[in-house]
Amino acid sequence: MAGNENTVPQADHLTVFFASQTGNAESISRNIYEQAQERGFKSFHYALNDHAKVDWDKEDCLVFVVSTTGDGDPPDNSTKFWRHLRKLKGVGLTKAKYTILGLGDTNYDNFCQTAKRLDTRLQELGASSFYPRGLADDATGLEETVDPWIKNLWPALAHQVISTPAIHDLPQPHLTSEEEKVVKDIIFKQEQDRKQSASPKLLPKTAPAANGRDPIENTIDDLKNLALTPPAIGYKIDIDFSTMANHANLTALPRVPNANLQIADLEADTVSRIPGSIPAFIQTPSKLLMATVNKVQCLTPSDALKRTIAVEFGFEDDVEYAPGDAFGIWAPNNEALVRGVLSALNVSDTAAMKAVRLHGEGIPSHLQSVQSATLLDIFRYAVDLTSPPKKANIRLYAEHASDLADKQKLMFMASKQGADQFNAFRAQSPTFLDIMHTFPSINIPLARIIETLPPMQPRYYSITSSPMSKNGHRRWSCAFNVVTYDLSGGVHRRGVCTPWLDELAGQVPFGKAVTTGLTTQRLPVFLKPNETRFNLPSDTTKPVIMIGPGTGVAPFMGFLEHRAEQRLIKKRLVNIGSGPRQHLDDHFGDMWLFFGCRHRERDWLFREQMETYKRDGVLTELQLAVSREENVPNSAKYVQDMMRNQGKSIWNLIHKKGATIYVCGDAKGMAKAVHDELVSILVDHGGYEKMAAIMELNTWAQEKRYLRDLV
Ligand code: NAP
Repeated sequence: MAGNENTVPQADHLTVFFASQTGNAESISRNIYEQAQERGFKSFHYALNDHAKVDWDKEDCLVFVVSTTGDGDPPDNSTKFWRHLRKLKGVGLTKAKYTILGLGDTNYDNFCQTAKRLDTRLQELGASSFYPRGLADDATGLEETVDPWIKNLWPALAHQVISTPAIHDLPQPHLTSEEEKVVKDIIFKQEQDRKQSASPKLLPKTAPAANGRDPIENTIDDLKNLALTPPAIGYKIDIDFSTMANHANLTALPRVPNANLQIADLEADTVSRIPGSIPAFIQTPSKLLMATVNKVQCLTPSDALKRTIAVEFGFEDDVEYAPGDAFGIWAPNNEALVRGVLSALNVSDTAAMKAVRLHGEGIPSHLQSVQSATLLDIFRYAVDLTSPPKKANIRLYAEHASDLADKQKLMFMASKQGADQFNAFRAQSPTFLDIMHTFPSINIPLARIIETLPPMQPRYYSITSSPMSKNGHRRWSCAFNVVTYDLSGGVHRRGVCTPWLDELAGQVPFGKAVTTGLTTQRLPVFLKPNETRFNLPSDTTKPVIMIGPGTGVAPFMGFLEHRAEQRLIKKRLVNIGSGPRQHLDDHFGDMWLFFGCRHRERDWLFREQMETYKRDGVLTELQLAVSREENVPNSAKYVQDMMRNQGKSIWNLIHKKGATIYVCGDAKGMAKAVHDELVSILVDHGGYEKMAAIMELNTWAQEKRYLRDLV
């Protein structure tokens, strides 16, 4: 972690790093950073990919706030850092003192994997922890762990300073009397330990410092659209606040985030943005590609539980990808919702179309690139208007509510005592507009809103096609469920990306693929860096076992198309060769697919293709689980049931032929059940003890013979 020209000048200080996928870890880390400054610590705040801005050798205290995504993967803004960390050798970080706050969800396997891996790696490199790591669980509420963890961080940090005053002749951080007591207790306990121990463990001898694309343009089209799209109004969320009167004192209120962001009007009035272009502030983790929507097909009839759409994207230049890769797409917020929010905030159409610049020290990373953009585009593309609010936001809205009843309710929901009401409110998935509609007296400066709304996230889908198919490098396909749902009280909710894509493609009915005729529209997409190597094995003779119910089958359709093309090429080569014709199957390992749907006639996605692949010998075995049809035995309901029925063959494929196992889809239910079934197969057919079977699967995962792409 050697410093470079950009290295922050060394002083005793605290650096807060974050690795954040959805913005949660970033906003929690910013909160820690701001509190640290208020308390007199000299502090810095960086994404983990900016690790080189800090000389870790000389660093005093490092605080990491890291989340985990997918199947235990680190967030995108830390991938460069992980590559760097892997390359480090020896124990070069002996001076670094650190602590970690991990964010995760116990509904998923590999809970807080990033935090745990980071902890292990830092220890290996010689760094030492100055405060126990915290692992916060979204399933029970992040705040449960985050709030006390942050509260106790300050005494632990202050202790580092107070216990080594001679080293750093610097002002001490401000502490509350309660915190001072905790510090004194720690010091007292350490004194005791020192006395008792024959070879006392020395305190860490470091201490933190104790002081202190183009300009975005208005388009005539945009103005027309504004006039065409009536603003949404929002829903009033009804919550029972009758127990509020029982609580005179509210506790555990989150602090109100600092106000850092400023909005500067730009002098030059804006010019037209090229139709189909997107705001220059959008930052993607890999090269941004502009795609046309060539074809669209609805895969499910109207009586299916979910509407599933397949879309083919087209590119002007060749794109390098492999079957199994996923891509991201940057969708805007629903236009009526954006209009509704701007209207609720009293932003006129003219003001919404004026170019502005966002600036201010320490503003969230996703806003730092907004140098010239309209408010309209900021609300469309930069901020997330649909994710349920966090407590810190509710507290902020309470500060800005002019009506006493609104203020009291919001304050109550932000407190420990109002946890039930807060959870009930979140369960209604309120959009930002719904919050404004439910508490109409909230009158909050625009900059505060933009700064505190979570960042807009790209949506990810697997590619269902192969680059080897005709024109394969100039197109790729995907398939997804259109996310809309109704809550009690007639509240209708919709996802961000999938309804947008569906509408854009014309909401076609069930049937054959149709050409969209969308020739001018370009959609912002990018390839997702594939860290897990969820791709076909390079040795084509190795069998593959693919498990993916519902749209989880998406990457496997790419695998199958790829293998069909490989077989075609091989067939041609063998036919033109002079030797005896070898059997095609000698060159290709078995392909087994376990697919699950509810009704054969309603949601057997890609049925025609699957049956063709089976008939042509591309697919060796097609195992279909049907969950909601009558006369289907219980033992064939889910993919894991079909696996159980085929346990012996699966074991033989793995054990005798070195098969690779791929699982794609829902992490919470399906992936866990499939994992358990694999354990049972190893026990029943491989003669393993249960623990040994679990360990074996872990080894296979490390060796990339058991790969999972989970959501
Ligand atoms: P779905 O339609 O909800 O379900 C497909 C089948 O799985 C149904 O028969 C369902 O049965 C069954 N199922 C439900 N719970 C199960 C369990 N615990 N174990 C095994 N099977 C179970 O599937 P979906 O909505 O398409 O979900 C697929 C998942 O793949 C999503 O999480 C999606 O995000 C993910 N994914 C999608 C892509 C993509 O490119 N679109 C890529 C990767 C992953 P019942 O409902 O009858 O119980």
